[in-house]
Amino acid sequence: MKGTKWMNRREKYVTQLLNIPASLRQKKIAWAAALFIFLATVAVLPFGTRMLPEVKPFLPMFVSWFIFGDLMTSYLLFIQYRASKSIPQLVLACSYLFTGFIIIPHILTFPGVFSDTGLIGAGDQSAVWLWVFWHGGFPAGVMLYLLSDVFFTKSIKPQMIFRFGVYGVGITVAVLATIYVLVTLGNDLLPRIIQKGNYRILITSGVGPVVWLLNLLALFLMIRIHKARDVLNLWLTVAVFASLLDVTLTLFAGERYSLGWYVARVNSLVATTAVIFSISYEINRLYVRLADQQDQLVDSQARLTRVNDQLMLLSSLDGLTGIANRRHFDERLLQELELAGIRKSPLSLLMLDVDHFKAYNDYYGHLGGDAVLQRVAQSIHSAVELVGGMVARYGGEEFAVILPGKDHREALNMAEQIRRMVEGQHIPHAASKGSPWITISVGGYTMDRDESRTEMTANLMITLADQALYQAKEGGRNRTMVNDILVAV
Ligand code: GH3
Ligand code: MG
Ligand code: MG
Repeated sequence: MKGTKWMNRREKYVTQLLNIPASLRQKKIAWAAALFIFLATVAVLPFGTRMLPEVKPFLPMFVSWFIFGDLMTSYLLFIQYRASKSIPQLVLACSYLFTGFIIIPHILTFPGVFSDTGLIGAGDQSAVWLWVFWHGGFPAGVMLYLLSDVFFTKSIKPQMIFRFGVYGVGITVAVLATIYVLVTLGNDLLPRIIQKGNYRILITSGVGPVVWLLNLLALFLMIRIHKARDVLNLWLTVAVFASLLDVTLTLFAGERYSLGWYVARVNSLVATTAVIFSISYEINRLYVRLADQQDQLVDSQARLTRVNDQLMLLSSLDGLTGIANRRHFDERLLQELELAGIRKSPLSLLMLDVDHFKAYNDYYGHLGGDAVLQRVAQSIHSAVELVGGMVARYGGEEFAVILPGKDHREALNMAEQIRRMVEGQHIPHAASKGSPWITISVGGYTMDRDESRTEMTANLMITLADQALYQAKEGGRNRTMVNDILVAV
């Protein structure tokens, strides 16, 4: 129950992406690694105190790897902190920063590596005390990480990331500096934990057992709280376990360059490398996820664009005839008026109305009327399309044609061509008072090249073309009138 509560808290973080649940395979690999170092430790324990050759390059090699491993882990955790804005992540990053840095004075003060007695003001027990702070500091850092999880359940504000980061690094550096001063200047003041290379009194002084217990406690809390559910915490648990085994072996070995001492260092390497692997794994998973999401995004964007285009088309077309609707016509006329103004080119507008259409509907029915409207619309469309014009259903049985760049003579010709085409289809109209076939009347208005355009508006053009249509109707229907020029059959 308690574990669930913790998990729920953690899930509030933006870190959800980073808290990748550990797969069964991941868990198996982690347990196998833990089992391996455990068995290695158990196997070595009985012979732990056996002295091995003093391989001088071993310690510097080990230390280089260790510094690289811990600082790299710290760096990766800092990046995660920046992304997740989660304080516990920052605490963990600082813990690794601490272990990565504390090993530098440890190796410098270690007798027999850089100098016989150690550098930078080393006392005879500086290196051991640094080991104590290092191996006690790591589980302490892990416990601080767990504790911060209780207090900082929410992500911090983006503008606070840098400030908290500086606090974290500042505190870590301050702690490191204090420890450094303590183990060098305070070398003789600190309790004795080593005597002539033998640190068996590390146990009897009680300092060693405290370090050991800190590691045990950290391990216990890690397992209890996180139950190694997500990848990072799974490997962090392995790291704490490795650290516990490292301390166990070191305490047991009692002397530098003994078998136990060597194997303990190897356990340390597992501790430092485990978390790097887990973070790299998480980062790789993130990349894969990101790439997948990117693909999906591109896909859905393409789909959206297609649907949008279809919608745009549908919303600009007339349902019955399939030509442009009134809305589209209004937009286009405004555009063409503006363009004509800029280019100083003529612009013509035709209004077309089917003659005696009410009578047609009455005689043939509405569906028959619809079919006529479709045929007339197609006739107009085929004629107008060739000259770059546009036809729209203006309303009912009225159509409008925009002819960009066409002067009044060309408009008149086009109007006549359309009128004749419709008549030429010989669609029977038995109820017509004028012709035995369906005919149309056309009224048009041309804004010519030399005309003053300042007061011309779309509405005015429509009104003028409408007036011409009215005159064509008055003149007897089945005829065309453009700019006061009437063409009759
Ligand atoms: P005219 O234009 O020659 O003066 O006579 P008209 O009979 O055509 O007169 P009016 O323009 O007033 O009649 C329009 C008729 O068009 C009325 C209506 O029944 C018909 N109409 C309008 N929209 C549609 C439509 O979508 N389908 C059908 N079938 N008829 C329609
Ligand atoms: Mg009519
Ligand atoms: Mg009408």
